[in-house]
Formats: sequence, structure tokens, C-alpha cells
Amino acid sequence: MGTAQPAIVDTKGQTPTGPEIRLKFARLYAQRGWSVFPVHIPIKGACSCGKPGCQNIGKHPWTAQGFYDATMDIEQIRVWWEFEHPVSNIGNPYRARDRVGGP
Ligand SMILES: [Zn+2]
Repeated sequence: MGTAQPAIVDTKGQTPTGPEIRLKFARLYAQRGWSVFPVHIPIKGACSCGKPGCQNIGKHPWTAQGFYDATMDIEQIRVWWEFEHPVSNIGNPYRARDRVGGP
């Protein structure tokens, strides 16, 4: 593996696919001092939360406390993206707050 680090880009909510990539990005965000939390993703027009008729497909937190669970803890991030929610998107509370009241 090379030593090059991927640049942090504004992906407009689109996270690169693949659990390793997500874990890598989540770690990079944490190292930058941004707390992160796992967010549900859309799967074939439905939501990964599995609720029929979910009103917020792919846009709500995976953990019970939502962005209050956000953390910079590398170990927690590893547990989330390596074991518990490997397919989840990366949320951060700053972006989540911007979304309140949005479309
Ligand atoms: Zn949902």
C-alpha cells in the first residue's frame, strides 16, 4: 500500500462505496476533529432501517441517540464501520444540523 492519503472532498452526502473506504474516511474526519456517526443508506428505493414507509430514506442516524452519539473515538468508529454498521454512511453533526428543516 502507498503512503498517499485520500483527500477529504465535499461529497455532498455521497460517501464512496465499500466498508474499508468508509472506515478510512470516518477515521480521517475524526482525526480532523469532526465527530461522526453512522447513518442509514437507501437500498433499492427503501431504507436500510427496514421500516416500511420510512419517511427519511437513507437520511437518518443508525444509532439510538443519532448525532448525540457522534464521536471522534477511533475505537468506536472501528466498531461501527467494521462490525456493527459496515454499510452505513458517515454522518457528522454539523451537516446533520444543517439538514434540519431542509427538504
Ligand atoms: Zn429509515
